[in-house]
Amino acid sequence: MDDCIFCKIARHELPAEIVYEDAAFIAFLDINPVNPGHTLVIPKEHHANLLEEPEETLRDFLPVIQHVARAVEQATQADGLNVTFNIKPAAGQVIFHTHAHIIPRHADDGLRHWPGKPYATQEDARKLADAIRERMNE
Ligand code: 5GP
Ligand code: ZN
Repeated sequence: MDDCIFCKIARHELPAEIVYEDAAFIAFLDINPVNPGHTLVIPKEHHANLLEEPEETLRDFLPVIQHVARAVEQATQADGLNVTFNIKPAAGQVIFHTHAHIIPRHADDGLRHWPGKPYATQEDARKLADAIRERMNE
């Protein structure tokens, strides 16, 4: 896509600290890292988010993410990693080209996880699970 920053990085039209590349995927440092070594992994073909990706891309995507994540973990001597996809603006997505965040985490990095909100009743949980289960057959 012409005006997509990540397509331009994939085509080497914009600079980036590329750490991995093959025919279908490219990984590069996030310009504004949560922690140093924060890396983005993208399919080169443009799709807006994970939910839009063709299955054949997804089959190859996870092994690449794992491969990059291991290298990031070791290079940053991280104690752990968050691997996340933000999907749509409500979830914090600002670049609408599918990307996995690989975020090195350190025991003392001071970051917090988002807070949990327990269901008010077990019935609330069951109803929502029912709604999801119904859609699993679509
Ligand atoms: P999102 O919020 O869409 O899941 O994440 C987009 C990420 O892309 C952000 O973490 C942001 O720092 C990163 N980013 C935005 N523009 C650029 C850029 O031009 N180059 C690189 N390397 N990362 C970028
Ligand atoms: Zn794109």
